[in-house]
Amino acid sequence: MAHTEDRTAWFEGQGLWQHVPASDWNDWVWQLKNRITTLDQLEKYMVLTTEERRGIAFAGRKLSLAITPYFLNLIDRNNPACPVRLQVIPREGESVVSAGETPDSLGEDEHSPVPGLVHRYPDRVLFLITDRCASYCRYCTRSRLVSNAQDYNFHPEYEQGLRYIESHPEVRDVLLSGGDPLLLSDKKLEHLLSRLRAIKHVELIRIGSRIPVFLPQRITPALCDIFKKYGPVWMSIHVNHPKEATAELRDACERLSLAGVPLGNQSVLLRGVNDDAETMKALVHRLLRMRVRPYYLYQMDLITGGSHFKVDVRKGIEIIRALRGHTTGYAIPQYVIDAPGGGGKVPVNPDYIEKITDEEVVFKNYEGRTYRYPMTAAPQARQIPNSNSQIPNSKNQTA
Ligand SMILES: *Cc1c(COP(=O)(O)O)cnc(C)c1O
Repeated sequence: MAHTEDRTAWFEGQGLWQHVPASDWNDWVWQLKNRITTLDQLEKYMVLTTEERRGIAFAGRKLSLAITPYFLNLIDRNNPACPVRLQVIPREGESVVSAGETPDSLGEDEHSPVPGLVHRYPDRVLFLITDRCASYCRYCTRSRLVSNAQDYNFHPEYEQGLRYIESHPEVRDVLLSGGDPLLLSDKKLEHLLSRLRAIKHVELIRIGSRIPVFLPQRITPALCDIFKKYGPVWMSIHVNHPKEATAELRDACERLSLAGVPLGNQSVLLRGVNDDAETMKALVHRLLRMRVRPYYLYQMDLITGGSHFKVDVRKGIEIIRALRGHTTGYAIPQYVIDAPGGGGKVPVNPDYIEKITDEEVVFKNYEGRTYRYPMTAAPQARQIPNSNSQIPNSKNQTA
């Protein structure tokens, strides 16, 4: 088989944890228990930069450090600029607060009718059911509450949340998020899904999770059976760089797909991680091969201490322009800015339209060539020839 992209990044194995029995390695509880959460633990495995050491010292007050052994293996320990490393190892930049940054940049707390539930759009709600994740992304939108490093004391009110949804018939779509919903036990998840399924007006249940990426071992047959039972359950995973698209992730996605879970991906555009067209193209191609449809590409939210990750929006538009027409339409995510303050997600697109009037639209294609599409249906002087030879049996059809 011919592959146009580099396949060497498919990764499989225990890496630094060769000494651990495979039964432990493949056990998600073992992975969680053995997460790297302190400076000392991390320094056992790699040499950190001063910037990273300072970042880790600050992380305790902002967003905890946690990396699963599985995910740590994906880091290039000899390269401080490794795109996997940048996502999970704190840097000093996290302590720098820039203009416009706030802990709750999307104004979620204002849009929460009950603790843990955000109702921003007319027909759907975001249901935050935990503040814990398998590993912590350093650019987390909800770092104010996730990992509880900032003493937010997040206590999701499942019962209140469920009652809110039950009593709001306009809510036809419930998005479970957090924290990571898949950190809940099977029992708790099954309870939540069964309660949501029992609500007649809830048509769509979906889950936003990075567990398949941080902890693919969590995608057990038992969990997949729950999705089968209460499905359709849709899922958005969160992959930012092709290096994360490992054999383990591929297999986890396959288990989910075979359980009937349609998979999408949400990426965040991050400086030094995926802010170039070639990386993004490799990523989206890998996603399609894992049956994952790229859904959103997010411009980073204005969270406190996030400016070291920020990418110029024009760069994001350029990346989308480099994809559209140049590769499979299914591979192209919608680039969005989640409007600061709580305006919701707004699509940001390359502009192909040059002129639009009552008569015509003039636009450029992906190669930069100009085309016209007439808007009017005025009859032309020269009629389309209408001979019987061109429309066979036309006489008989009306007989
Ligand atoms: C992102 C989000 C949703 C889901 O948005 P979709 O565009 O439907 O995927 C719902 N509620 C909130 C508060 C969100 O931030």
